[in-house]
Amino acid sequence: MIKKNSPRIKRLAEYIALQFDEKITPLERILEDENLDVFYDNYECDTFDGMTVYDNGNFYIHLNIDKHNHPGSDRGRFTLAHELGHYFIDAHRIGLQKGLLEPHPSLTNQKQYYTIEHEADYFASCLLMPELRFRNDIGNKKFSFKVIDYLKTEYKVSRTACALRFADIGNCPILVVYAEKNIVKWKHSSDDFPFKWLINDNIVPLYTVMGDYFNNNHIAEVFRTEQVWAIDCFKYVRDEDVQRKFYEHCITYKDSALSIFWED
Ligand SMILES: [Zn+2]
Repeated sequence: MIKKNSPRIKRLAEYIALQFDEKITPLERILEDENLDVFYDNYECDTFDGMTVYDNGNFYIHLNIDKHNHPGSDRGRFTLAHELGHYFIDAHRIGLQKGLLEPHPSLTNQKQYYTIEHEADYFASCLLMPELRFRNDIGNKKFSFKVIDYLKTEYKVSRTACALRFADIGNCPILVVYAEKNIVKWKHSSDDFPFKWLINDNIVPLYTVMGDYFNNNHIAEVFRTEQVWAIDCFKYVRDEDVQRKFYEHCITYKDSALSIFWED
C-alpha cells in the first residue's frame, strides 16, 4: 500500500526543526517549550516503542526503554519525534483529546500500513532531517553506503530512518529492503528507482548478500557492499537490461537484515 506524504505535515515539522540552529533537532527543548512530560520506563519487550496519552487536560508521552528507546539514543529520538507528531498534527491531537483516537502503541517497523502511524513517521522524519539541511549535506556526493553513515551521524538518527529519508529526497535513486528470516517485511524505494518488484515477491532474492546470509545459516554477521545483477533481484528486467548491475550494502543482526541497493 502506498501512502502519500502530506506537504502540510512536512511544513509543520520542518518549521519546528528550523527554528533551531542545531542540526541535531533538540527534542528536549521542544518538550520544554510545549511543557510536555516524557516518561522513560520499562514496559517490557513485547509491547510498544512509544505511546501518547491525553489525560485531564495534559499530554503525556511514554517511551519504552525495554525496546531500546533510551533518552538521546537514535531509536529513542525517532520514537519521541513520532510521538511528537501525534501531538503536533492537528487531527491526531484533537482525536486524542476527544477520545476519537485511542492512545495506541507505536511499533517501529510495523506501522507502514496505518495512516496515522505513517503520518507520525513522516513527521518524525521531517523533524529530524529537514529537507533543505539534509540535501545541503548530501551536496553532490557520489552515493555509497558511507553517505548514509555520514548523514546518520550528522542528524543522530538510525541507519534505517536515514536511508528511508535519503530514498525520498537524496541525489541517487535507492531501494531499501528490510527482511526477517528470509521474508521481506517491507521495502521502500525512490520514485525513480528503475525496478519496482523484487523477483520472488516477499521471499528474499537468493543471489543477493541478504539472500546469501539467510540461506547459509548466517554464522557471522554481515556488513558489506557487493555487486548484484538486476536480473537476480528484480522482476520484469528487459532484454537490454540483462547486463545491468547494482550495488547492495547489507547489514545483518541475528534474524534480520537491511539492504540498500543502488546503481553506479
Ligand atoms: Zn504512533
